[in-house]
Amino acid sequence: MQLLEERILKDGQILGDNILKVDSFLTHQVDYKLMKAIGQVFADAYKEANITKVVTIEASGIAPAVYAAEALDVPMIFAKKHKNITMTEGILTTEVYSFTKQVTSTVSIAGKFLEKDDKVLIVDDFLANGQAAKGLIEIIEQAGAQVEGVGIVIEKSFQDGRRLLEDMKVKVTSLARIARFKDGKPVFARADA
Ligand code: 5GP
Repeated sequence: MQLLEERILKDGQILGDNILKVDSFLTHQVDYKLMKAIGQVFADAYKEANITKVVTIEASGIAPAVYAAEALDVPMIFAKKHKNITMTEGILTTEVYSFTKQVTSTVSIAGKFLEKDDKVLIVDDFLANGQAAKGLIEIIEQAGAQVEGVGIVIEKSFQDGRRLLEDMKVKVTSLARIARFKDGKPVFARADA
């Protein structure tokens, strides 16, 4: 996605060997116009899949996911990373190791929001080693629902996430694919949409 790649080049900052900071438009401050365009690209990529729910994980997946849900005209559900006393029954959970925070957390969705005949599009901000997406797939499968694909805003193709998901026979659609970082700038591979 041209607009997204241009924005990453303009505003992204590389931290250490493998982290891209995009807090001015995606992970902290949100550019809703860009998110709306991203949501539409995801919706177009899955328009034949009869998606019934969009699922993401808090917090930074929520902005692109809600616009994908709007464009598909379906509900968006975000998995919660912290136990919540209002979540009392029928909770679907899994453990997810966070790439950026380097901690394992229990991630959960109330079972009442996912049904056996749901066709789910997972959306997340980044794909690194694939642990967040894998955790969401496990939760959706616990509900007996079908994962139709994983939509990623920024994939770091030099990490193992895509391989992990494709080995699970899950379709991955990434709007920007970073092949490597070179001279303090991301170098893009061809995006999926
Ligand atoms: P994974 O589970 O694929 O290893 O990592 C994906 C999650 O880690 C995303 O939900 C995102 O929050 C975070 N993440 C991974 N890599 C980056 C990165 O380079 N920058 C930022 N801001 N977040 C990242």
